[in-house]
Amino acid sequence: MKNFNKIVNHLITTGFVYPSSEIYGGLSNSWDYGPLGVELKQNIKKLWWQKFVHESTLNVGIDSAILMNPKVWEATGHVTSFNDPLIDCKSCKMRFRADELIKNQFPNVNVDKMTNDELSDFVKNNDVVCPNCGKHNFTDIRQFNMMFKTHIGVTDDSKSVVYLRPETAQGVFVNFKNVQRTTRKKLPFGICNVGKSFRNEITPGNFIFRTREFEQMECEFFVKPEDDLKWYDYWKKYCMDFLLNELSILKDNLRFRDHEKEELAFYSKATCDIEYNFPFGWGEIWGIADRTDYDLKKHMEYSKESLEYVDAVTNQKIIPYVIEPSVGLDRLMLMSLVDSYDEETLENGETRIVMHLDKKIAPIKIAILPLSKQLSEKALSIYKQLVKKYNCQFDESGSIGKRYRRQDSIGTPFCVTVDFDTLNDDCVTIRFRDDMSQKRIKVEEISKYID
Ligand code: ATP
Repeated sequence: MKNFNKIVNHLITTGFVYPSSEIYGGLSNSWDYGPLGVELKQNIKKLWWQKFVHESTLNVGIDSAILMNPKVWEATGHVTSFNDPLIDCKSCKMRFRADELIKNQFPNVNVDKMTNDELSDFVKNNDVVCPNCGKHNFTDIRQFNMMFKTHIGVTDDSKSVVYLRPETAQGVFVNFKNVQRTTRKKLPFGICNVGKSFRNEITPGNFIFRTREFEQMECEFFVKPEDDLKWYDYWKKYCMDFLLNELSILKDNLRFRDHEKEELAFYSKATCDIEYNFPFGWGEIWGIADRTDYDLKKHMEYSKESLEYVDAVTNQKIIPYVIEPSVGLDRLMLMSLVDSYDEETLENGETRIVMHLDKKIAPIKIAILPLSKQLSEKALSIYKQLVKKYNCQFDESGSIGKRYRRQDSIGTPFCVTVDFDTLNDDCVTIRFRDDMSQKRIKVEEISKYID
C-alpha cells in the first residue's frame, strides 16, 4: 500500500501543489497548482477535450459562465435541497455530516434515503459516538446549503443574490436550444463544458480529492428517450477506456460501482461511479448518470420556454433524455499522481522516486542536460528547437545522476544528454525514465524519434 502522506509531501516539495495563500497560514483545504501541477492539469484537460469533443463526431463544446440567473438553481432544486445534514458534538464542538457519521460506524445502514428526522433518531437511539472525543452528545441536525452565495452590484439585499455554480452541467442545459439551433445537430448529440464549480463542502479533505473549489469536465449527451440505456452503456465504457488507455491507470485500481435502486436520485434511471483505489480507500472519480428528461423539463417549467426537440423526419416534438458523464479534473490529477508514484530500490541500494506518468500527460516531456557548462550553448540550441513542440526543461546544475533522479521524480519520460562527443558527431544520448535504458541518436532525429 502506498503511503499517502509521503506522496502529498513529494507533490508539495516538487512543485505540483502548494497550500493556498500559505504565507498567511493558508486556507483550509484550498490548494494552488505549481509549475508542474498546472502543466499536468492542462495536459489532462486537453486530452479529455480531444477525446470527448474533437474525436467524437457527436459532441461539441461550450464554455458557460460561473454566475447564472439564480432561477436556474431554483429550477434544479439546488436552492431547496442541495443540503448537507450537519450535526455538532456538544462536548468537543467538532462538526460532522450526520449521514457520514452513521455510515462510518454502521456500514450496513443505508443512509442515502433517510430523512433528517430519521438520521437524527438513528443518532439518538444508537451508540453513535463522536470520532474525535468518543462521547455521545450531539445537537439536532441542521440543514446547510452547499452553494456559495454572493451579490451582484452594490447592494447586499436578497434581490441581488447570485450563486457560484455548484456544477457545470446547468450551463449546458440552459444552452440546449442555442447549441441545437446553431449547430443543427440531430439526436443523439452531446454538449461538453469544462470549468470551475464551487461547493461549500462540510468535510473536505484527502488533499485535492474533495475541495470547495474544483474543476469539472462534464458532457450532457441528449438522446431519444427509448435509446437511453444503450448510450448509458456506451459512455460508461468510453470513460473507463479513457482512464485505461489515455491515462494508463492500472486496471486493478479501477472499478465500476452501480448505484442500488435506493441510492439513485429520484429522477435517475441508472447511475454508476467509476472509483479508484486510493491509499485512503475507494473514491469516486467519474459519475455516469441517466438523468432522464428531468433537467430540460424543469427548465421548461421555470423559464416557460420550450426546450423540445423537433424530429426532422417525423416532425414529432420530444424532450430528450440525458446521459451525463461527469468527472472532476482535480480527482483525475490526484489519481494519476498516486497511481504513477513509485519508489524503486536500485542496484547500488539507493532509492529512486519515479512517477510513471503517461507520456501524454507528463508535465515535462524532455529534459535537456549538458554534461558540462561548457556545453551549454549547444544544449540550449537543442532546447530551443525541441521546446517549440514539447514542453522541455533545461537543467545544467548538479551531477548528471542527480539530474536524472530529479527528472524521474517529476515524471519526465525522456532526458537528452549533451556530452563532448556531441560537438563532433552531433549525437546525443536519450535516456528513458521507466527502465533507465539509453540510446544514442542524431540531434536532427530527436524530434521525429519522440513523435
Ligand atoms: P461525492 O459523492 O464525492 O461528493 P458527487 O457524487 O457529489 O461526489 P457529482 O455531483 O456527481 O459528485 O460531481 C461529479 C464529479 O465532480 C465527481 O465524480 C467528482 O469527480 C467531482 N467532484 C464533486 N465534488 C467534488 C469536490 N468537492 N472536490 C473535487 N471534485 C469533486
